[in-house]
Amino acid sequence: MNELLTAENLDYRDRAREVAEKFVRPLAAELDREARYPWEIIEKLKEYRLMGEWIPKEYGGGQGGVLNLCLIVEELSRACGGVGVAYAVNALGSFPIIFGGTEEQKSRWLPDIATGKRLISFGLSEPTAGSDAASLKTRAEKRGDCYVLNGDKKWNTNGGAAEIYTIFCVTDPERGTRGISAIIAEKGSPGFEIGRKEDLMGIRCVSVHNLHFRDCSIPAANLLGGKEGIGFALAMQTLDNARPGVAAQAVGLAQGALDLALEYARGREQFGQPIVSFQGLQFMLADMATQVEAARQLVYYSARLLDAGAKNVTKVAAMAKVFATDTAMKVTTDAVQLFGGYGYCRDYPIEKYMRDAKITQIYEGTNQIQRLVIARNLIKESASMEPKLVEKREPTTVG
Ligand SMILES: Cc1cc2nc3c(=O)[nH]c(=O)nc-3n(C[C@H](O)[C@H](O)[C@H](O)COP(=O)(O)OP(=O)(O)OC[C@H]3O[C@@H](n4cnc5c(N)ncnc54)[C@H](O)[C@@H]3O)c2cc1C
Repeated sequence: MNELLTAENLDYRDRAREVAEKFVRPLAAELDREARYPWEIIEKLKEYRLMGEWIPKEYGGGQGGVLNLCLIVEELSRACGGVGVAYAVNALGSFPIIFGGTEEQKSRWLPDIATGKRLISFGLSEPTAGSDAASLKTRAEKRGDCYVLNGDKKWNTNGGAAEIYTIFCVTDPERGTRGISAIIAEKGSPGFEIGRKEDLMGIRCVSVHNLHFRDCSIPAANLLGGKEGIGFALAMQTLDNARPGVAAQAVGLAQGALDLALEYARGREQFGQPIVSFQGLQFMLADMATQVEAARQLVYYSARLLDAGAKNVTKVAAMAKVFATDTAMKVTTDAVQLFGGYGYCRDYPIEKYMRDAKITQIYEGTNQIQRLVIARNLIKESASMEPKLVEKREPTTVG
């Protein structure tokens, strides 16, 4: 099905599908087993001109927008969820530069990210600041023409592989979220150490690290937008634009698991017939396919809204994230069920889909936090409407 996609969308999707099927799928189990960063796939993504798809053309990117980004992430994740996020996190890390950087800053960092010469990561979370990101503590103090950073970042995806890091830190502790700024740190800065690599349940090929800043001196020219205090707003704008990408990772994982489940169910025989002939499993497969398609359409819709420059996309981006990632968890779990005992061991690729899917419900804001965001927006919208739907009626008597 072409999902009402344009020729440009299909071109991006087909190139990503070719990379996924030719290079990612054959390597996925090995990358997972060895928890090895997929450098060879990054090379292929460069060769297929997919790195930097979301970066404006004037800085060497494809300016393909959020829908094309989603299509690429979906295809890569259909073969391996870890590769999907290793790619997508470059968009997460570079959106703050695109949205808030000065011309000089964009020209300095975006061209390398666009070609894949240097990878980037996004450093918001800390050991004690997860869902409550505004409580982050990493401090940046202005001293002369530098900022001196002290603090620790946690869960930095691409942490070991990246060379550019978008770091959110406190420049004015008295001003709450308006005291948070975004600063670009580069690998090798004295006082900046890449810490421990996490041993993850899923997406094992992507490197997730702690980052440590100890009296790390960074040129003031690296303060995004040249302004203190805009970091938190930039982080929130970034997450609105990036959440459809996580949702696309989830759609890819769910579709990938469904593909495997269908093929297995056609081949596996019990009671003298292929298990796909049992209506109990047919109903399961039908539900899985329906849920995947519904999730895909919500993801594409949210991406199209962002590409059209629509305002107030926070609610729909959160809806896409919640629905697609809950769907991925359900569909991948059902797919393991469909494989029976064989689904529970590493002889088959299906259990990896379930492990990879779990993280999509957690990162870029847990699904509890997404539901809070959706509810907060619903209540705000309802408060701005004139009350006319709920009328108290006269009590009626029956009989
Ligand atoms: C593999 C991985 C990669 C990551 N990559 C990055 C990255 O690249 N950059 C980055 O900045 N961060 C990254 N993160 C961090 C991620 O975004 C956080 O883990 C996430 O936001 C949750 O924060 P937490 O882990 O501290 O959980 P907590 O905030 O401690 O939450 C614990 C539980 O409480 C629930 N909870 C918290 N507050 C509420 C509330 N108000 N109402 C209801 N429930 C609530 C949560 O939903 C969760 O179930 C990554 C995390 C992981 C595991």
